[in-house]
Amino acid sequence: MSPYHGRFAPSPSGRLHFGSLVAATGSYLRARSLNGFWHLRIEDIDTTRCRQEHSDSILRDLELLGFEHDGPVLYQTERLDFYRECLDRLTENHQTYYCNCTRADIRRMGGVYNGHCRNLNLPDAVNHSVRLKNTTYVSEYRDEIRGTVKNPTSDIPDIVLRRRDGLYAYNLVCILDDLDTGITEVVRGSDLLYDTFAQISFIKELKGNVPAYAHLPLAMEDPEHKYSKQNHAAPIDMAHASELLVKAVKFLGQDIPDEFVHEKPADILKYAVSTFSLEKISPDSRIV
Ligand code: GLU
Ligand code: ZN
Repeated sequence: MSPYHGRFAPSPSGRLHFGSLVAATGSYLRARSLNGFWHLRIEDIDTTRCRQEHSDSILRDLELLGFEHDGPVLYQTERLDFYRECLDRLTENHQTYYCNCTRADIRRMGGVYNGHCRNLNLPDAVNHSVRLKNTTYVSEYRDEIRGTVKNPTSDIPDIVLRRRDGLYAYNLVCILDDLDTGITEVVRGSDLLYDTFAQISFIKELKGNVPAYAHLPLAMEDPEHKYSKQNHAAPIDMAHASELLVKAVKFLGQDIPDEFVHEKPADILKYAVSTFSLEKISPDSRIV
């Protein structure tokens, strides 16, 4: 069997919070329990929201929490040439087009882009986004935690690859990085459960290997809000690193004796890796 390659890919738009700790823990335990590699990727492509100080603090916290990653940390902002080459190749293959729809235009379409500019042959211009001329419909995929996830829409999404402000889009860089680093399984929060249809269709357009997926339950602050930087979730308090790590392991349905709150983070992770079972993870997001 080919080796397992997993990853954790935080966006440094804020510090590590309990929601991102759950994603880090889930992806780490899964990878290490399969003797696999665990890669770290800083998704700092959106420079309007991301800050170097947050990248630094996320990496520092992960280290103090006992996470050991394989290979160098990847920073998306250091890979712009790679993204440009990939996008140029798609454009040369006539797999992209330019679009001048604004957010307000898309609202008027009912909130979902309807392919308006696909055949307009608009030029490359400031304020024009680049979209994928997508031909692949993905009706369902298998999630290792949830089983079959069915596509609730009949859309073939012409995802944005380069935004109107010139920045590369999340879907472009995330997929190119996953393919380039040979990620075999994506373990992440279930906020991206439905974005996965568009991502899989993009991978198929690129003729890449579709990884496995496991979408973790979300830690909610209250019924409406997951822990997220947008919701200004409180950063992890590193004075309680062991307690929080045990809490994340338990949130993922794993059995761990309470005494472990007095152990070092690295020992907590070691124990959790040795007893990890994906089957024990309940897919349901819940308040913690
Ligand atoms: N960077 C994304 C986030 O922090 C995660 C993307 C992914 O895991 O595919 O929410
Ligand atoms: Zn358009």
